[in-house]
Amino acid sequence: MRVGLFGGTFDPIHTGHLVVAMLAKEALNLDKVYFIPAGVPPHKRDKRITEGIHRYRMVQLAIQGYDEYEVLDWELKQNQPSYTVDTLSWYCRTHPSHDPFFIMGADMLLDLPNWQKADRVIELTDIIAVTRPGFNQAMSEQYLRLLPASWRKHIHFVDMPGLEISSTWLRERLDQGLSVAHLVPDRVICYIKENRLYG
Ligand code: ATP
Ligand code: MG
Repeated sequence: MRVGLFGGTFDPIHTGHLVVAMLAKEALNLDKVYFIPAGVPPHKRDKRITEGIHRYRMVQLAIQGYDEYEVLDWELKQNQPSYTVDTLSWYCRTHPSHDPFFIMGADMLLDLPNWQKADRVIELTDIIAVTRPGFNQAMSEQYLRLLPASWRKHIHFVDMPGLEISSTWLRERLDQGLSVAHLVPDRVICYIKENRLYG
């Protein structure tokens, strides 16, 4: 089994996330992609984040009907902040025969060396870095040069057409009472309304 592990806050999940998962799956020939909503990610501890159960339910609704996607609540069940290395260690321990790939936006790549036990992360998984708008081939190469040489063969860039959608922008729109139609799956929009999330 080749699996993608896609960590994020998903506050809320949006079309950009879904296209990332689809393109990563296709490019690396993955059997499954697991969405892993973060408990309270270490770099967002100071901000307000929607309760984990809501973010989990929104992912569930967004991937409903797609057998190749699943959502894992492991990070949400931890009481302490989860570092990617902890999640990957847990996953590899519990699924020893799987071949995992960690999926992230290429914008996060330069930060990777600062991650908790980054070397261990690269030992446990390969990385799929999906490009965000403004990111080109030359930048991929430049990014790779800034990372330790031994990591390079473990990093796979996947091109994505510019979909400059971020949860931050969506929260701002929702705060202002603006529509997020087509940016967020319909079922998720209903859930947001029913539960009066954001704004
Ligand atoms: P926020 O604005 O709250 O940071 P976000 O839209 O960046 O939200 P996250 O949950 O932080 O969403 O993202 C999870 C992962 O998905 C990250 O690795 C991020 O880089 C990637 N990602 C999110 N949106 C896109 C997009 N439109 N294109 C490519 N990658 C994306
Ligand atoms: Mg982000």
